[in-house]
Amino acid sequence: AKRAGRGRAVVYGPALGEASRRMSQIEVALRDGLRNGQFHLHFQPKAEALTLRTIGVEALMRWNHPSLGTVSPGEFISAAERCGFINELGELALREAARAARELPNLTVAVNVSPLQLMEADFPERVRRVLAEAGVPPERLELEVTESVMLDDARGAIRRLHALREVGVRVALDDFGTGYSSLAYLRAFPFHTLKIDRSFIHSLGEQSNAHAIVDTIVHMARALGMRTVAEGVEDDIQLAAVRKMRCDEVQGYLISRPMPLDRLKAWLSGRPVQ
Ligand code: C2E
Ligand code: CA
Ligand code: CA
Ligand code: CA
Repeated sequence: AKRAGRGRAVVYGPALGEASRRMSQIEVALRDGLRNGQFHLHFQPKAEALTLRTIGVEALMRWNHPSLGTVSPGEFISAAERCGFINELGELALREAARAARELPNLTVAVNVSPLQLMEADFPERVRRVLAEAGVPPERLELEVTESVMLDDARGAIRRLHALREVGVRVALDDFGTGYSSLAYLRAFPFHTLKIDRSFIHSLGEQSNAHAIVDTIVHMARALGMRTVAEGVEDDIQLAAVRKMRCDEVQGYLISRPMPLDRLKAWLSGRPVQ
């Protein structure tokens, strides 16, 4: 299958169904949405596995369009990547996350970064500037990248990741275990954190090899000096399993769904924070 990338020509005709009609509506609406402030972040807590103390949040983009309704990031992020809006959207996420970090003392704020953002040579400098303007210490920001950052321009991506480390932000490898050559990337770049994909966590407690895989990832990460996050923890069985395997952090609906900043602040008050 062809990977959707920059400059891919997409032709819509009457023969195409409802799904592609919606796709083209989304692409048209993106520009307006960016101009009219329709995008904002929700935040999902990350907790220390053993104590369930909140130690950070992941910022997740939300789009509420007046007529299209709620469009999922799965739909609009790839549309933004195709249409050349992802840098603008990514910058917006960074700024809003930095603002949020000021209101969330002691918590790390993680932002998802598209591979296309990392292809921009000045991305590390832009991150540094956003943090400086917001007055947020770089170590309060974590950037989550997926293995696909390495597909187009691995050397450039690795150079930028090193520059980001020098800026002082933390770097996490997202959806770990779902890419093609995860281990090669671990050799090429020292991530601070590995986020174990929720497909593995989901299968814990079932009769599957997921347990052996998660156990192996945690051991390897520990040996390489990286922290681990279990993504998509939804029940107590999964929590118990990842605790037993000494995974460092948990994130998922069991702790909380993503929520707007105001609700997060209310949720946090009265909870133990690091
Ligand atoms: P991701 O980075 O892997 O983010 C985690 C996704 O899993 C989020 O979906 C979150 O709501 C969902 N999730 C969290 N806990 C659970 C759970 O216990 N069970 C299940 N089933 N799901 C859980 P969301 O918000 O729909 O985001 C989907 C993807 O869109 C993200 O996956 C990320 O790749 C992308 N994305 C979201 N915001 C941004 C952004 O600002 N920039 C970029 N480049 N990508 C973003
Ligand atoms: Ca993520
Ligand atoms: Ca993930
Ligand atoms: Ca993902």
